[in-house]
Amino acid sequence: MRGRRLAALLFTLIVFLASMAAPLAEAHRRGAKGAPRSKKPPAVRRVMRVSSPPRTLVMAVPDFSELPPMFAWPVDGQLSSKFGRRRMGWHQGIDIMADLGTPVWAAASGTVVLSGYETRYGRLLKIEHANGFTTIYAHNDENLVEVGDRVVIGQPIASVGRTGRATAHHVHFEIRQAGLAYNPLYMLPLPPRATLIEETEEEDHEDTDD
Ligand SMILES: [Zn+2]
Repeated sequence: MRGRRLAALLFTLIVFLASMAAPLAEAHRRGAKGAPRSKKPPAVRRVMRVSSPPRTLVMAVPDFSELPPMFAWPVDGQLSSKFGRRRMGWHQGIDIMADLGTPVWAAASGTVVLSGYETRYGRLLKIEHANGFTTIYAHNDENLVEVGDRVVIGQPIASVGRTGRATAHHVHFEIRQAGLAYNPLYMLPLPPRATLIEETEEEDHEDTDD
């Protein structure tokens, strides 16, 4: 009698446990069904393979405590590569296309602090401006100024080339301050072409020569 009661109790316990286990099994099954979803994270990780930007690159619109100089375009040409992310890594300046030998101008007045040659940059110049700003001009065919020279904005300082790691004639141009590289497009005036588009839209038929 006692053994039967124990068996009945045991049976009830098993039924109870089974009823508890059913939703758990269901949840487990759902989890298994969601397996394709759990495949996603590796795919995301694959997309994120390009590392986060180096700390020395400022991707946002700059907000300086020191007033930056008024910068001018170092060469008249088309932008061939923007600042920031590239297919493989990061670009800490902009590339402006121009023919071989085209004059490169100082983007702002200052003092030449570097005139030399590096494997990647090729023949390059570095000019120091007010408030700790520096500009860099790379892949030059020729440098026309020396370290210590004072230059004024718009002064020819080099000629366009493709020295160093460059596949076409262009100027690689950087703006830096306190060890950080800033997007020159935020600091240069609008290129003439963009200004022209704005004018023609506003003035409509007034301007006939194109
Ligand atoms: Zn470049």
